[in-house]
Amino acid sequence: MKLESPVETIPRVGTKYKKKLNRLGIKTIRDLLFHFPHRYEDFSDLVPISKVKPGNKVCVKGKILEIENSKTWKKRMTVTTALVEDETAPLKVVWFNQPYLTNVLKEGDQVCLAGKVARGTKSYPGTYLSSPTYEKLSKKESKDLIHTGRLIPVYPETEGLSSRWMRYILKPILSAFVRIIKDPLPEEVREKNDLPHVSEALWQIHFPDSLKKARKAKKRFAFEELLSVHLYVLREKMKLKQEKAKPIPLDLQIIKKFVSSLPFELTNAQRKCSWQVLKDLQKERPMNRLLEGDVGSGKTMVAIIAILNTAKAGFQTAFMAPTEILAKQHFKTLSQYLKGFGIKIALLTGQERKIGKKEVTRKKLLGEIKKGEIDVIIGTHALIQKEVKFGNLALVVLDEQHRFGVEQRAELCQQKGFVPHLLSMTATPIPRTLALTLYGDLDISLLDELPKGRKEIVTEIVTPKQRKKVYSFIEREVEKGKQVFVICPRIEPGETNSEIWNDVKAVEKEYEKLSEKIFPNLTIKKLHGKMETKEKEKIMKNFQKGKGDVLVSTSVVEVGIDVPNATLMIIEGAERFGLAQLHQFRGRVGRSEAQSYCFLFTDSSAQKTTKRLKAIAESKNGFELAEKDLEIRGPGELFGSRQSGIPDLAMSSLKDTFLVEKTRQWAKKILEKDWRLDNHPLLREKIERLQKTVHLE
Ligand code: ADP
Ligand code: MG
Repeated sequence: MKLESPVETIPRVGTKYKKKLNRLGIKTIRDLLFHFPHRYEDFSDLVPISKVKPGNKVCVKGKILEIENSKTWKKRMTVTTALVEDETAPLKVVWFNQPYLTNVLKEGDQVCLAGKVARGTKSYPGTYLSSPTYEKLSKKESKDLIHTGRLIPVYPETEGLSSRWMRYILKPILSAFVRIIKDPLPEEVREKNDLPHVSEALWQIHFPDSLKKARKAKKRFAFEELLSVHLYVLREKMKLKQEKAKPIPLDLQIIKKFVSSLPFELTNAQRKCSWQVLKDLQKERPMNRLLEGDVGSGKTMVAIIAILNTAKAGFQTAFMAPTEILAKQHFKTLSQYLKGFGIKIALLTGQERKIGKKEVTRKKLLGEIKKGEIDVIIGTHALIQKEVKFGNLALVVLDEQHRFGVEQRAELCQQKGFVPHLLSMTATPIPRTLALTLYGDLDISLLDELPKGRKEIVTEIVTPKQRKKVYSFIEREVEKGKQVFVICPRIEPGETNSEIWNDVKAVEKEYEKLSEKIFPNLTIKKLHGKMETKEKEKIMKNFQKGKGDVLVSTSVVEVGIDVPNATLMIIEGAERFGLAQLHQFRGRVGRSEAQSYCFLFTDSSAQKTTKRLKAIAESKNGFELAEKDLEIRGPGELFGSRQSGIPDLAMSSLKDTFLVEKTRQWAKKILEKDWRLDNHPLLREKIERLQKTVHLE
């Protein structure tokens, strides 16, 4: 067996358990070894039975005097009852619904039992040990205990994979591999940071001698994960620095002309960020800049300025949006603002192909793009298909999307030896530690100012009791001619009477309720991701035009949609969304001079939920919110560790500013001497693995 061998090669795993393990993301032996417990149960102290008290968690050692199964009257449940005795006293032990136990544990067996002591009830009088974990001692020495008599690891469980099973499977694997596993961390790094060797750490994180050693082991892995993320990101940055881009000269005159043609003044933040972008474009090195600005801060304007300057220098821009609707919206905006500047703008999505106002064939459009006739091509993912060849691409603008790696960029730009400049825009606020790690390869420009005259959006948490009041408020706003969004959460399987729900169902149900019961006189529309794109667009377009009072939707409206007449945002099950997402929803309203409102509906009174929702009600600013979110929920949830592919431990360690900084220093130090990592092959392998799974957004 090798570290990369699939889990089914482990004895006693088989297809049944393979599936269950895979569901946890555990595919190889390596994954299994690096599937860490999330807590420990401390059963390290053996208690004499005479000292056992109800309510305590204890571990006892003794001999089984008797053991038998019986059925309860009412529930037809099997109860296994045993009597166990040590030198000091006997103790009753009870297990529920585990009839096979009488096959495993026999009278006369020496056992170790760990669990909670229960006070007797009417049906089971007398103190007893309730459903303890057990371990037969006959052949084992106490140092070999894995379920009792020590700190025992408790793993994040899914149905059918108990921690007991994990311990049972893991122990022999661990014994086999700790002897041969090599440490990716250089010795110098381990020594200077007091980090244990990987084999010691693996052992201690699964079967620790003490909590202190477990913590030390965990820190060691966190260090390794963070170091790898830094190495990966910094290396991307270095690679990019060695690439060439087309320098785009600054045409100050045309920029001035453009700015004075606008119906509003640029904000200072827009000026500052545009300047940073224009300066980057002049360089021979590819720009790699992230424009980060709250919803409504006017990011598009910065992009337009960069695009105009690029076009005037004779180069093309590709402008990519995450959805058809947004691509069209940008096409409209750009056509409008750049009118009179002699810029040729095209639209290329799955459905539409336009040059200026004219619809054209795909072939014609691709031809013009290739000849370099088109200055800006706006589109969806359709833009990065192989058939789309740019004649003279120098700038890529991404709206609310994952960024491109060096290779992807080079592919886009067919001219050998050049990669385009990249401007990536996001409204997702990035806490500082994330900016240093996951976004460490990007230069960041902040649009930390909203255009003048925007009113603050009134945000309130609504409890079930106040629901009616909000409904009448909605009616009044609609009477005034305003429009309303209602966002429904995805309802995860198993949460409501174990029915399988999804967000589509949630929308359908809410739509029915609102249109039949609550607002029979209003026009209610619905929108969800499972609809045909055409259908979705029609509904969105009509809603933009004022057709429809209320739009019930899934999170598809999250990014970008602009409906200035909508002034009310209702979010159902608000506790199910991340703060960043809630903030995005809220940003869908407040896009005109009119006062807007955001109501967060929740039935949950859990403290953590309240804290989070309060945070959003109190902070108007996305950055403040991001720091709070990081604090409350931790980076994994904030950033979606599953989607990003960043290991959980690296994610959770992002909270630790000190460790983030320290590992960054080490990453730099390692790369300074050995940027190809030729002398650190294990680290290189690790980063290559990371590269395959990571999708940075
Ligand atoms: P976002 O940063 O969310 O992408 P947009 O670029 O869509 O924001 O801009 C939001 C709205 O604000 C648009 O209607 C845009 O025309 C307008 N806008 C942009 N800059 C300014 C400004 N300096 N003053 C007033 N309105 C502006
Ligand atoms: Mg935008």
